[in-house]
Amino acid sequence: MKTIICRHCDMVSHVPNIPSGYVVKCIRCDSVIYKKSWCNPSGLLAMCLTALILLVPAFYYPLISTHLLGITEGTNLLQGALMMIDNAPVVAFVVLFCAVIAPTLLISSIALSSACLAFNYHPSYLPKILKITYFIRHWSMLEVYMVSLMVAIFKLMNDVDLYFGVGFYFFIALLLLNLTIISNYNHHSYWEKYINE
Ligand SMILES: [Zn+2]
Repeated sequence: MKTIICRHCDMVSHVPNIPSGYVVKCIRCDSVIYKKSWCNPSGLLAMCLTALILLVPAFYYPLISTHLLGITEGTNLLQGALMMIDNAPVVAFVVLFCAVIAPTLLISSIALSSACLAFNYHPSYLPKILKITYFIRHWSMLEVYMVSLMVAIFKLMNDVDLYFGVGFYFFIALLLLNLTIISNYNHHSYWEKYINE
């Protein structure tokens, strides 16, 4: 039986062996202190590699195209962020970081740590990768970008003809895969595998 300190209230709890898909909650503050996910490192590695392939068309192909006065123009995620650099550089950087850099780093770091654990290879840099994963997962905000994109689409659709580009469908697929990866990634379990195996 292992012991875990609750990150929210510092309560020390013993964690029993639980089946996959179950969580352990703190008896004092009811926060989730441990979860046992369905997916093992091999499954997460497969999902991360698929997500890394999806990143390219999701970022490269146009998300939406606008048709105004006989001119059709498509914009992809990178162009959308770079367009704001002159007028709002801070916003452009935040969009680039949270919608492009952080998700790419997060998926890459989970893929790397999953590959190491799946093949039972424990390099000295693996703890650094796990720490980067823990830090960067709070900054990966593909879903926030999606919500803001939908708001922009609903506001613009009355004034111009809007079409969803190929990149939009790749982005939806990437978003769903990213959410599945994050919900199945278990930070505690990866550290345990690194220390015990
Ligand atoms: Zn607690």
